[in-house]
Parts: sequence; structure tokens; C-alpha cells
Amino acid sequence: MAEICDVAIVGGGAAGLSAAILLGRSRRHVVLFDTGTPRNQASRAVHGLLGHEGLAPSELLATARIELERYETVTLRSDLVTAITRSGSGFSVTCEGGSTFRARKVLLTTGLIDDVPKLEGIEQLYGRSVHHCPYCDGFEHRDQPLAVYGSGDKGAGLALMMKQWSPDVVLFTDAQATVSAEMAERLKQKSIEICSERIASLEGTEDGVLKSIRLKNGRAIERSAMFFSTGSRQRSNLSESLGCARDDDGGVITDPVTEESSVPGVYVAGDASRDVLLVAVAIGEGAKAAVAINRALLRGAGLG
Ligand SMILES: Cc1cc2nc3c(=O)[nH]c(=O)nc-3n(C[C@H](O)[C@H](O)[C@H](O)COP(=O)(O)OP(=O)(O)OC[C@H]3O[C@@H](n4cnc5c(N)ncnc54)[C@H](O)[C@@H]3O)c2cc1C
Repeated sequence: MAEICDVAIVGGGAAGLSAAILLGRSRRHVVLFDTGTPRNQASRAVHGLLGHEGLAPSELLATARIELERYETVTLRSDLVTAITRSGSGFSVTCEGGSTFRARKVLLTTGLIDDVPKLEGIEQLYGRSVHHCPYCDGFEHRDQPLAVYGSGDKGAGLALMMKQWSPDVVLFTDAQATVSAEMAERLKQKSIEICSERIASLEGTEDGVLKSIRLKNGRAIERSAMFFSTGSRQRSNLSESLGCARDDDGGVITDPVTEESSVPGVYVAGDASRDVLLVAVAIGEGAKAAVAINRALLRGAGLG
């Protein structure tokens, strides 16, 4: 039978690494599993993170991994966790390939996947001039001609919001669900044009700068950046298979103080709990979960 570790962390993005550092500092035995696909891997620069403005996301995570090296009780494994089940008072964690680990507590920091619009040419632009989050990337495109991609009133809502960053916003619905009459009136009042033609492709430079949006009817509309609102979903179904309750948006419901889910002993932090979806918040939630887990382990040992 494998030795039992204190905490199994699944996910080595900002949330998981933040938790691992605090648990390492608390001398907890931790195994952190990660497949190396953080949500912002298409991005060139992290914005809005205190003290790290413009740092490459890969560099941020690489630095955290180096910082973790001094905590000898923390082990990093490049492995996909395929199943987690209850085992006595703890959990059994199974990886692809069959290796299993036992842990007293589980922390899921498995993140989300974005539904990037299926548009020709988007791949080389995504994360450079095509984005989903105005708080992350709006400032870099302030006062530029902006496109918003989205259907129905959700797309219209994002178009209205983008006026905070630029006076020149066009909403592209790509011939999908139409905007309600009420929203159409609000867009008109704010001088936001609605383009409901089908999009043929996004045209840009080789280094990822959007130049124009080519419509199926041949017309090209010049835009410098695009923001989209097509949604995101859980990267992993581990929280679902463990029975963790989710909210209407698919976020795992957690205690706001401890980050513990509805399943005792299973904690969820970072984007997977769908609070504010930012690196700073993921780091904060990872830290909160680490402190709560350490406290729970202290109580279990009669020390808390
Ligand atoms: C293009 C883009 C740009 C962004 N820019 C910014 C920005 O400028 N500023 C900002 O604050 N936020 C930004 N964000 C949001 C930011 O990426 C997220 O808030 C942050 O990555 C969340 O961290 P996390 O640790 O919760 O999840 P993630 O970073 O997604 O990490 C989850 C990790 O879990 C691993 N994993 C998942 N399932 C398993 C499994 N079963 N077994 C093993 N490993 C697993 C994945 O491989 C991944 O490494 C951006 C997002 C995108 C998409």
C-alpha cells in the first residue's frame, strides 16, 4: 500500500502552485500533479498581477516551480489524474498509466477551458489581439477600433462593457442568435454597430496583430482587437465524479473562507470554482485553501 501524503493537489497552475508553496512551508507532505496546460497558455503576458506586470505566463509558473524546490516535502509529478475515490478517512488518487497515491486531503485546482470561437485565422491571434477578458487585456487595446464577438444579449452585454475601454466598438454576431429589441436599442444609444453577417476569417499579421474581419460577403472591417463571449467549461470532471456541488454556471461551490467543496476533505481553488477568473484570485484562493487544509490537519492531529 502506498504511503499516505497529507495533500494531493491536482493542477499546477497559479492556484495549485500557490497552495503547494504554503503547504510546503507548513512542512506538509504534498504531491502536486500537473499536465502543464494552464488556461492562459496562449497569452504572451500576464496583466493585472501586482509586481509582475507583463511577465510571460510560462515564466511566472516556472519561477514558482523553482521556488518550490526548497520544500523537500513537496513532490511535483507531470501526470494526468484520472480518478479520485474515497479510501478510508482519505482519498485514493489514480493517474493515467495506473499509478496510485493516497492522500488525507485533496485540492483540485484544475482550471477551465475556454470555448474559443471557431473562426479561420483565430489561432495565431488568440492571446495577442483576440481575448475574452477585458480586465486582463482591455487596457492594452484602449481607444482602438474593437470588435466584440458573441451572439444574442450576452454578446451585446460585452459590447456595451467594452465602451469602457474604447469609443469604437462593433458587435459581430456571426449570424447566430439575434440581439433582443431592448438590447439593440441600448447598443444604438451607445453608437455600437451590429454586424450580423457571417464571418469568413480574421486577418492579421504573423506576430498576432488583428487587422480586419473578413465577412462572407467579401467586405473587410478594420479592427485592431477582438473580445469574445463564448464561455468556458471545467477542464477536468474530477470534481463531478467526487460529487462536488456546482452552481448554475458550472463552477464548483466552495466555502468562501476555506475553499472546501460540498464533499468534506475536497477543496477547490482557482478558476475551477468560478469566482473572479484572474491569476491574482487563483493565487489567493490557493493560499486560502492551503491554510484551511493545514488547520484541518492540525485539528485531526489534536494540535488545532
Ligand atoms: C488567453 C488568456 C489570457 C489571460 N490573461 C490573464 C491576465 O492577463 N491576467 C489574469 O489575471 N488572468 C488572465 N487569464 C486568466 C488566468 O489564465 C486564470 O485565471 C488562471 O490561469 C487560473 O489559474 P488556475 O490555477 O485556477 O488554473 P490553470 O492556470 O488553468 O491551471 C490548471 C492546471 O491544472 C492542470 N490539470 C487539469 N486537470 C488535470 C488533471 N486531471 N491532472 C493533472 N493536471 C491537471 C492543467 O494542465 C493546468 O496546468 C487569462 C486567461 C486566458 C485564457
